[in-house]
Amino acid sequence: MKFSDIPGSTSVKAKLIQAVKDQRIPHAQLFVSAEGGGNLPLALAYAQYIFCKDPQPDDSCGICESCRKVSQLAHPDLKFVFPITANKADKISTYKDQFPDFKAAFTDNPFLGVSDWLQAVGKEDKRPLINVDSAAEIHRDLQYKPYEAPFNIMVIWLPELFFHAAVPKLLKILEEPPPQTLFLLVSNSPGDILNTILSRTQLVKLDKIQDWEMLEALTQKHGVDIQRAQEIVNVANGNYNLAQWLINEEDNSESVNLFREWMLAAYQTNVPALIQFSDTFNAMNRDRQKGFLAYCLHLIREALISAQEMPELNRMTSAERSFIPKFSVFIHPGNAAEIRNMLEKALYYIDRNANMKVVLTNVSLRLMELIREPVKKA
Ligand SMILES: [Zn+2]
Repeated sequence: MKFSDIPGSTSVKAKLIQAVKDQRIPHAQLFVSAEGGGNLPLALAYAQYIFCKDPQPDDSCGICESCRKVSQLAHPDLKFVFPITANKADKISTYKDQFPDFKAAFTDNPFLGVSDWLQAVGKEDKRPLINVDSAAEIHRDLQYKPYEAPFNIMVIWLPELFFHAAVPKLLKILEEPPPQTLFLLVSNSPGDILNTILSRTQLVKLDKIQDWEMLEALTQKHGVDIQRAQEIVNVANGNYNLAQWLINEEDNSESVNLFREWMLAAYQTNVPALIQFSDTFNAMNRDRQKGFLAYCLHLIREALISAQEMPELNRMTSAERSFIPKFSVFIHPGNAAEIRNMLEKALYYIDRNANMKVVLTNVSLRLMELIREPVKKA
């Protein structure tokens, strides 16, 4: 993983590189971005730069023995800690036991989110944690000096998922780190991390991936044609994980149809059809659920803009252009915020293993009222 493999955050990358050149690498850093914003691959690119035997002015060489080992997650001095769903039957008690799965999931998609990880290990209904046994393993993992590199680097993915009883062990090792050890914590939700941990790390906050940076990556790295890339950029809104998922979607007419049926059922207060929609939604995998809800948010935005007659701000595909103008008569400032809020909450619930059939049914019931609300004149 090179810095150039990650779109955006140019000045953040430059600062990291400068710290290595100046030999002033903080012993614990916290890489923060939204999910799909690139914090995990950036931590890996940084580790690769630190270990690189032939570092270039603005990136690792990518071809030396160290770079190759880091890219393959096979460097003996690079360690990964991540949340797991411990399971006696599968003999999984710490992150070490599940490293081959993590390596495969990361190799498949370095921008993965926690739901991708759960899906990769077939535990979509479980809440993963960095458990007490894993915290003890961290201490064992760092008891030896590095073999090849000047440091042991430990990447801790999603420290917000430390089980509360495991936190003191993490705190202890951050307070008294073994010599020649660097910690790279990688968080999507730093607000859920204890202050005592935050205060022992230096913050590396990524910039949101800009539309033009995403567009460049999609057209140049993935060979997506410019029009489709523009559509994906509009929907992904800085989430590269979602963008990569959308690349594999043929086109969005299927999602437009599903959304149209849902809204129509709500308008007609057709409860059986709404329940059926909840079933359809519930049968999707998590990525599809997230992609669909993120897409609904995009459609609500477009409808609101269309209703306000600001066509220059509309960002629509051809499938959307035939639907949005008709739909926009039902969306106005009086109901758009609450609808958006409900969809955002539903998105949040997906990662927290909520019963999505219940969540979506509740959204639909409220939607029946909201969508029939008359336009309030300001
Ligand atoms: Zn190298």
